[in-house]
Order: sequence, then C-alpha cells, then structure tokens
Amino acid sequence: PFSSGIEYEELVQILKSTPDREKAREWSSYYTAGPHLAGRNLSQALWTRERWEEWGVESTIVDYDVYLNYPAGHRLALLEQDKKTEEWSVKFEATLEEDVLEEDPTSGLPERIPTFHGYSANGNVTAQYVFVNYGTYADFEALRARNVSLEGKIALAKYGGVFRGLKVKRAQEMGMVGVVMYGDPGDDGLVTEKNGYEAYPVGPARNPSSVQRGSVQFLSFAPGDPTTPGYPSKPGCPRQPVDHAIPSIPSLPISYAEALPLLKALNGLGPEASYFGDSWTTGGLGYKGVEYSVGPSPADLKLNLVNEQEYVTTPLWNVIGIINGSIPDEVVVIGNHRDAWIAGGAGDPNSGSAAINEVIRSFGIALQAGWKPLRTIVFASWDGEEYGLVGSTEWVEEYLPWLSSSTVAYLNVDVATRSPHLEVSSAPLLNNAFIEAISLIPSPNQTIPGQSIADVWDKRIHTMGSGSDFTAFQDFAGIPSLDMGFGGMGPETPVYHYHSNYDSKAWMENFGDPTFAYHEALSKVWAVLAARLIETPVIQLNATEYAVNLDRYITALKKKSAGQTSSSSLLPADVTTAYKDIFTSLDTALSHFLTAAIVHDALASSLLNDLYHNFPPWWNLYKRLRLFLAVRRVNTKYKLLERQFLYPEGLDGRTWFKHVVFAPGKWTGYAGETFPGIGEGIERGDLEGMRKWAGIVVGVLEGATRWLGDD
Ligand code: GLU
Ligand code: CA
Ligand code: ZN
Ligand code: ZN
Repeated sequence: PFSSGIEYEELVQILKSTPDREKAREWSSYYTAGPHLAGRNLSQALWTRERWEEWGVESTIVDYDVYLNYPAGHRLALLEQDKKTEEWSVKFEATLEEDVLEEDPTSGLPERIPTFHGYSANGNVTAQYVFVNYGTYADFEALRARNVSLEGKIALAKYGGVFRGLKVKRAQEMGMVGVVMYGDPGDDGLVTEKNGYEAYPVGPARNPSSVQRGSVQFLSFAPGDPTTPGYPSKPGCPRQPVDHAIPSIPSLPISYAEALPLLKALNGLGPEASYFGDSWTTGGLGYKGVEYSVGPSPADLKLNLVNEQEYVTTPLWNVIGIINGSIPDEVVVIGNHRDAWIAGGAGDPNSGSAAINEVIRSFGIALQAGWKPLRTIVFASWDGEEYGLVGSTEWVEEYLPWLSSSTVAYLNVDVATRSPHLEVSSAPLLNNAFIEAISLIPSPNQTIPGQSIADVWDKRIHTMGSGSDFTAFQDFAGIPSLDMGFGGMGPETPVYHYHSNYDSKAWMENFGDPTFAYHEALSKVWAVLAARLIETPVIQLNATEYAVNLDRYITALKKKSAGQTSSSSLLPADVTTAYKDIFTSLDTALSHFLTAAIVHDALASSLLNDLYHNFPPWWNLYKRLRLFLAVRRVNTKYKLLERQFLYPEGLDGRTWFKHVVFAPGKWTGYAGETFPGIGEGIERGDLEGMRKWAGIVVGVLEGATRWLGDD
C-alpha cells in the first residue's frame, strides 16, 4: 500500500545482489596502499566523499580540531652494571622495528609508521622492571599481595585481557614509572610456531617481530578528544587538562622476539609465577626458556625506556553521507572508521571501509531504480577512532540534540573480516532485527549447501562494551547500537596481526579473506539490516527482548552479590536482608517494564499487520488517519525507548557515561559491564552506593514503563 518507488522485496533483492567481492577488493587496495593515521588521511577522506557522491549519496566532510600525538623517537634497552667498575653497559638494545618482508610490500614502505602508543606520555626513564602478566587490576593486586615492589619500576605486560590504556592507568596508580607491552604467542590459540605452524608470511602463525600499536587513553573513563569531554572539538573551543584521561608515564609496545631477552633475564627472580595462578604461567614462550618469573630485575639490571611524542592540535575528517527519507525525524546511522595505525589496515578498519562502500553503492543502485526511502539513512566514515573513538565521539557530541530526537539505531562495523566467525555485540532492542538479517544472507562457508550466516553462527550476542565507534551512540546518547564483523576465533584461524604492519593487503589476500567473500557477505548483512530498519513501517525494535535481557543482567548481579555476602567481612550482618530488599525493588520494577514491553510489541505487530493485510481499500480517510497516527505513536515510543535509560548526571567517577545499563567495564574497557552502578557497589562492598544505584535504576525502569504505557 505504500508507494516507495520500488517494492521492499525488490530493494532487498538489490541489496543482496549488488555487493561484490571484486569491488570490495578494489576499495581495500585503495585504502591499504599507504599510511592513513588519524589527522593524516585527508586524501582518503576526499576520495571517499567522491565515491559516495558518484554513487548518488550526498556527502560532506565534517572536521574537528583534536589533540593527538605523533611518534618522534623511542628507545628500549636493557642495561647492566659491572660489579667491579660500576659502569653501565648495554646488554640488549631493542630495534623497536617490525621486519621488512619482501612478500608484504607495505611492511617496507619508507614512510611506514613507527611502533608507538596513541596518547602515551613523553619520558626517559631508567629503572628495574617487573613482569605484571596482563597488567589487569587483579594482576597488580596479586603482585601487591606477594609484596612484589612496584614503586619506581617499569612494568612488562602481556597484551590481552583488558584495554591497554587501563594497564598503564593501573601501573601509574601503583607508582610505576613506565610500561612495556608485548603480544605473547600463548594467546594465539593453536596457531603458533611452537605447535609447528610457520610464521607469517610463510604460514598463519604470528610473525615474531610483529608489534601491536594502539591507544593508551583511559577509555572506560571517557572516549573522544581528551581536551573536550562532553562537547565538540571545534576550532577555538575551550580545552580541559588531560591528566584524568591519558597517562602521565611513558609506554612502548614491543614484539615477542624483543620481549624474550627481557623475560629471560627475570628467570628465577621473585616469587615463582606458579603462586599467581594459571594465566601467569601459560604464556607461549616456555619452549624458548622463559619461566615467566615476575622479578623485579636486580638493581644492576635496568631498562631504559625513552618515548618522544609530538603533541599537536590538528584537524581530522569524518565523511558524512545522507539519503533523505520521507519521514525526516526517523534516522538510522551506519558507520566505520577509516584511520589505521599502519600503512595497511586491511582488517582494521579498511575491511569495514570496503564493506561500507559496497553498502552505499548498493543503496545508490536502489535509488537509481526509483527507491524512495521511508526513513533517513546517514553514513559515516570516521577518522581518529584508533586514538580513542575521536571522530565519532566529537560528532555525536556536536549533533546530540538532533541525534537524540531522531535516531532509531546506529550500526557499526570496525573490522569487517579477519576470520570466518561472525561476532556481534548488540543492544537487545536490535537482537531480532539482526537475527532476521543474517538469516537472509548465504554463508560463505557452508557445511550443508544453502546454509545462511545465521545457520553457521554461534548464536551468541555479546553485550555492548567499548573499543569502537558505537560507544558515544550507545553510552552517551542512548541510541541502540550494534557492532559486528567476521572476527571470532576458531581453532585454526590464522593469527591476526592486530595493529601491526602485517595487517596488510598481503595478509588479507593470503590468509584473512583471500576471495573477499566475507567482505561481500558482511556488506549484504549490513545493507539488509539497515533496510529492514529504514523501510518497515513499524520500527523493527523489540522491547520484550530488552526486558528479557535486563532480567538476565539482574540475575548476574544477584550471583555477584551472593559471592560477596559469603566472602566479605566488610559488610554488616544484616546485609543479606538489605540485598534482598534491593533486588525485590528491582524485580518489581522490571516486571512492570516487561509487561509494558509485551503490550507495546503486541500493539506494534498488530498495527503492522493492519497495514499489510487488514487495510481495506474502502476505509474512509478518518480510519486511515487513525491507523497512521497509531503507527507514528508506536514508532516514537520505540525510537526514544533506549533514551529512557540515560541518567543525566552520569556514572560515579566517569560522568560522561550516561547509560545506567551499559558501560565499558571500569577496568576492562573492551568488555561491557551491565548495571555498572549497582555492580561496582557490590564489588566495593558499598551498600550505600548499591542502594543509590538501585534507586536510580528503579526510577529509570518505572520511567521506561510509563514511556511505553502512556497514551
Ligand atoms: N579500537 C581501538 C583500540 O582498541 C580503540 C581505541 C580506544 O577506544 O581508545 O585500540
Ligand atoms: Ca569532545
Ligand atoms: Zn578499528
Ligand atoms: Zn584498531
């Protein structure tokens, strides 16, 4: 009954058949031919805008003036003091360089990007060092419990577990003076040299010289430009001090080949690694003679760590494309970042950039076929994601009023392809739409002919954490968001050289996605999911799914608190009763929300049914108008439902985060924490904090219930 130029089925057909692996390969080749660090990729922004316009999507460049660092110099050396002469000499000097591989041309570009950390502090420190495992909060606590002296020392940490900036944050809080990080092959699954796999470029195992660059900002405290928390970095705007947001001690990333001599020199020093638990001893370098002793290194064996960064305030460029729909205030945003740490970036992020281009090209073809979209769709190619989600965060901060009143959903893809296993994190409101979209797209790998992506998927939807551009949408603006990509680990997946020179075109063509079939498949999923959200007259969010998942999160809190009451001596004796009261009030509020959600979803599907099937042509104007108004009301409630979960004052100690249900874990960064206020109260054994946050959550749930119920 709706004239949209072409029928919905026809649109979906176009979106399923247009994305093309060879085109994706072409876009990937373009982006990965040379360096495109944040603030240094204007030509790629212009090129991207040109392509989008060529495909029929009006596009502009939106720029910000942001605070960033670029590498200027570095050194890491192991120094040894002669017992007699007391002279210091160099026992080992790290090259801090990844090997230049003939098989991987961008690894040898003269303008390739040095190994460094985004937002790392300048410094030149010489100190004893300690192996701190992953450098998680718990790891530092374990060292403290064993009286390993940390003050004034340098931390040697494995990558993994938590966001790297939080390792530096905790080291700094422990009085340490520098951090060195390396990726241990023990975290590469089965595919290691130790297990007989050849290293890249010959085989799929980690190249021993590869180094993971990356940002060390304090992600879970506030993303975006650290000088402008909460507002856009427009030229001339006021700037805040940065010490709450980025480290004050220097850090450097190194390869496992160059970590080896440092680790070995600690053998036998300090409490045995086995005192600390499995994750400390299961590193993958045992066969090379590493015992993973924690140290510290003796007083006559020190590390010299030099980090020189040039800090600047410099423009960066988001490309924003728009297809206007008939309903101006219902908008779906889809985005991917364009900036990379290295010349290549074939996985991170430009597999996503290739995919978004195919999505846009496909929508362009639909426009040519006469498609008139119902809702508005906005496309974003973000800059500065790598330093701390900078381009997307500044944009959300700038357009907050418009985004708040109009946005239905944000769909993010960072790495589109680095393995054959689809991974997704999603706001529960979007779960069903996502599952429906992946069941429409054939899987590139099929054990039984005809399988869809849904058929071969592990059926796990993760909760939203952080670490990519959905963060400002979900946690600051309260817009239901989703993040997906073929990025899961399987037993035989080739090692992904994350933030290394070897995340390159050559790696992608030989190991990651040689046929580009996964790039193509992801474009199709993305486009079809967006189309479903844009074109279905009743917005395809599901409130019941939200309520059901909230119940799951509350159950997890109950488990957590049960652990606390049995183990903690901090808590008063009547604490069990107090917990009970708190959970009773949460359960009651949630049951009201669940009822309202079920009623709302039922109304929504009956309206959709009326529109599709029970809309007799002889209905008079009055009846038609009533139906349209009812749809409009239901849609507005869906659109603003996630917004009801924001608490304007923000979370304790990190007020930029406004969502009471979803936040990055304070000490994990990547992994999400649900009901962070209550959860942190439980962890601290802080009954008052827990009460305060339970009160806030109950208020929010009752508000969301009224929002759905009121007519
Ligand atoms: N994807 C980037 C990383 O994990 C994000 C950096 C950040 O959020 O600060 O390094
Ligand atoms: Ca800002
Ligand atoms: Zn990325
Ligand atoms: Zn990245």
